[in-house]
Amino acid sequence: MQGYVDSLLAQIKAKNPAEPEFHQAVEEVVDSLSVVLDRHPEYRAAKILERMVEPERVIMFRVPWIDDAGEVQLNRGFRVQMNSAIGPYKGGFRFHPSVNLGIMKFLAFEQVFKNSLTTLPMGGAKGGADFDPKGKSDNEVMRFCQSFMTEVFRHIGADTDVPAGDIGVGAREIGYLFGQYKRLRNEFTGVLTGKGLNWGGSLVRPEATGYGTVYFAAEMAATRGGTLTGMTCLVSGSGNVAQYATEKLIELGAKPVTLSDSNGFIYDEAGIDREKLSFVMDLKNVRRGRIREYAEKYSTAVYTSADASAGSNPLWSIKADAAFPCATQNEINAADAQNLLANGVRLVAEGANMPTCLEGVEHFLDAGILYAPGKASNAGGVATSGLEMSQNSMRLNWPREEVDARLQHIMKSVHEACVHAADLYGTPGNYVNGANIAGFLKVANSMLDQGVV
Ligand code: NDP
Repeated sequence: MQGYVDSLLAQIKAKNPAEPEFHQAVEEVVDSLSVVLDRHPEYRAAKILERMVEPERVIMFRVPWIDDAGEVQLNRGFRVQMNSAIGPYKGGFRFHPSVNLGIMKFLAFEQVFKNSLTTLPMGGAKGGADFDPKGKSDNEVMRFCQSFMTEVFRHIGADTDVPAGDIGVGAREIGYLFGQYKRLRNEFTGVLTGKGLNWGGSLVRPEATGYGTVYFAAEMAATRGGTLTGMTCLVSGSGNVAQYATEKLIELGAKPVTLSDSNGFIYDEAGIDREKLSFVMDLKNVRRGRIREYAEKYSTAVYTSADASAGSNPLWSIKADAAFPCATQNEINAADAQNLLANGVRLVAEGANMPTCLEGVEHFLDAGILYAPGKASNAGGVATSGLEMSQNSMRLNWPREEVDARLQHIMKSVHEACVHAADLYGTPGNYVNGANIAGFLKVANSMLDQGVV
């Protein structure tokens, strides 16, 4: 089986050069699946894995727009429709200067497994552009979103592909994108999720990824008889996921002590409380400022600038019990993982997608800590998007308590599915294998049912 897996990985690397994040995401999954492929030759015969790593469709397009100075600007847009075996394509749009085809493909690939785990009928996709909303006026962001949607609208739809937000795409961007879609199609449908509450959005969708990550962490802690109460927690990022993970940690009696952005991080030894968090929300969501300002406002906090040339990130060297990486991919390298372990961290729940490099994951698994890969622990965001789709189809809105109860139930189910699959395939407590195997089986069996398409 190792020969088959190695040759598959070699083929993927040769066929998709210069896509290191995609290779990394595939490698992690394929490693987990070798035992499944061993027990189920039918998946190999039908070339299920070979088909799953090949997107069903990739759309790449030009996005021209005019800035406030009247100059023409140009970006590159993407939509990777990876797999629709279990439902319409679903996955966010990311607007960030680092966006390229390899990053889109890694995110779309992970999304297939994550969506399968949610228990809801959603296929996997991802999209976005190398556009940086930071420093742009609202009008510039609007013109960019309108131009982006003017191409992408012909490839999406409520029963075809339902995008949502991700890095750089929040409530403002979803609003502009939805407005342009509605204008072009002359129809009001649930084509995007993360919509405003007045026009088809769901309560708890903004909170869902961060809350869900913490619900998942609480489930993990319970397997060892513990709770999150009293735990000192490291959180990275200060965007949507980080903000609501922090909010839920505070609510459960934990003590979050860090937040970051791409320029640096703050460490507040006294803990980030509700009042400080509402300052961060205003700073990031309204004033669109930098996290450095937190340390200017609160004397209990220290700010450290990011240093790209350093071998490790000092945020991950702070003494703590748990870590919630909620910024971006590969933000925890092998040295960071070792520092986390050395400083007492016994639980890591990923709010971001693939924030830990492969070697870092190995360190966590070898140490036997409670480690949840993003595709399991951050599945609450897309799951609640699925609930938004259901509400749109029924043309009604569930109350906050109902959506939150469903989210909690889904995170419990995702956790159970991971634990069960890890047990069944001989690696109890390994959430990486559990998530990959449970996510794979549902998609693979659906693909077998549907023939060679
Ligand atoms: P936001 O844009 O709201 O926030 C992103 C945060 O991460 C910002 O603080 C940003 O800092 C920081 N960040 C982004 N890129 C980098 C980088 N290259 N280096 C350092 N810091 C960086 O995005 P979200 O909170 O929505 O997303 C965060 C993560 O969670 C992503 O991995 C995303 O894929 C994942 N995720 C999001 C979901 C959602 O529902 N929104 C669902 C599931 C996963 P700065 O402002 O300086 O760029």
